[in-house]
Amino acid sequence: MIFAANFKTNHTRKSTQVYVKELNEKLAAKKPEDKVYIFLPATALDVYEGDFRVGTQNAYPAVNGAYTGEIGLEQLAEFDIKTILIGHSERREYMGESQEKVAEKFSFFQKQNFEIIYCIGEPLHIREKGFEAVMQYLLAQFEGIDIGYDHLIIAYEPIWAIGTGRSATVEEISTTHRALKKVIDNKPLLYGGSAKPANIKEIINIAGVDGVLVGSASLDASSFSQMILS
Ligand code: PEP
Repeated sequence: MIFAANFKTNHTRKSTQVYVKELNEKLAAKKPEDKVYIFLPATALDVYEGDFRVGTQNAYPAVNGAYTGEIGLEQLAEFDIKTILIGHSERREYMGESQEKVAEKFSFFQKQNFEIIYCIGEPLHIREKGFEAVMQYLLAQFEGIDIGYDHLIIAYEPIWAIGTGRSATVEEISTTHRALKKVIDNKPLLYGGSAKPANIKEIINIAGVDGVLVGSASLDASSFSQMILS
């Protein structure tokens, strides 16, 4: 299973060091085949030792240059970061990242051989239209994306379940993952959306779920490690 933490705009460098210390203590009991990622805010990126991989939540598709407020490959290389989250709904929605921009980013980091966790997900009004509308919406988020890329993990995150405390139902996750698996070349497929210690077992036992991308419940090292060790 894959367990990925997305800190979003939470934690500082200092609190991340405390977090990593606690996580490492807990990870001593983790199954060797399970993989753990933590996606940190840019100011907390650093070289951390442990049985997990550090990723960036975002970066500009350039080595360096005149992109005020952004970080590029050069800044990531300083800490040997080779993992990136692309297409998260918060970046699509709040930062106005179009599918074209997302695809450009994907292609740049693919050329750099990064491991990419690529997020897709539908808003509530699409889910309410029914399954066909959901799949049509999700498949459009693969436009310009090389699904055959070797170092690709996909995260299905229904937007209405992110940070709301309301996870998708087992039936919704199961049906959507089954349909997605047919088109994603058997790449690992994570579920994201209010995953937490109370529902993790149920979620990871669903066929077609290869792990979880966790926001709120990952901010506390003991809650996140409880999920990993469940
Ligand atoms: C996310 O934003 O990737 C996410 C899954 O958030 P949460 O777990 O808080 O719903």
